[in-house]
Amino acid sequence: MIGMGILKGMAVTLRNFAGSYFDKERLITVQYPEERNPLPENYRNFPFLIYDGNDPHAGLRCVACQICEKECPPQCIYIIKSKDKKPDYVGKPQFYPAVFDIDISVCMSCQICVEVCPFEAIKMDKDFELSKRERFDNLLSRKEQLSKSNEYYHKIHPIEAVTVDKNLADAAAAAEAKKKAAAEAAAKAAAAKAAAASAPSSVISPESATGSTSAPGEKPAETTTPPKS
Ligand code: SF4
Ligand code: SF4
Repeated sequence: MIGMGILKGMAVTLRNFAGSYFDKERLITVQYPEERNPLPENYRNFPFLIYDGNDPHAGLRCVACQICEKECPPQCIYIIKSKDKKPDYVGKPQFYPAVFDIDISVCMSCQICVEVCPFEAIKMDKDFELSKRERFDNLLSRKEQLSKSNEYYHKIHPIEAVTVDKNLADAAAAAEAKKKAAAEAAAKAAAAKAAAASAPSSVISPESATGSTSAPGEKPAETTTPPKS
């Protein structure tokens, strides 16, 4: 029947309207900004940089490899590599970004920078209240603004962050095992070299061992007794 769909829709609206006086679950609007709906796990806005621990500089995971800068489709990432190095999460000396800017007026939230980063250093933020009065310099997010702790990452993407932590812990354990194996191999090689150096230098020749003057494999020369006269 024509108009049946409209009537059914109106019935749902009416039921929710009347029900919202008795059941809070039927209230589908929230009093923003005092009230907020929780954002889903995979919601994303603009990227941010992760640091471990409490020091945003020492714990910054980014090693300024510039892969994300090259891969960003609208080219809105700007990085200057440091001159010196600092230890990364496995203790290996690495460069870090002296400058790391993202122009969020250009960023299209595609997440490609996150996908290509080999160091789990850049992730997507959920912060959407970013309106500014000035639309040029204020929309350029600097390293200091972009750097956020791993605890913050756990808060906004709890499931993803646990997987990332596990991947990093596995990588650190593998690096430690490799280092240990290399140290053991070096110690063994040094011990073998020392043993070879302390061994006696005289080598017992086959001749002296057998008392024979013939070459190895050659039949020993027969000794002939001179006939008695
Ligand atoms: S989300 Fe996309 S557009 Fe934005 S910085 Fe990353 S790669 Fe560039
Ligand atoms: S965020 Fe990742 S891909 Fe980008 S420079 Fe840092 S380590 Fe490299």
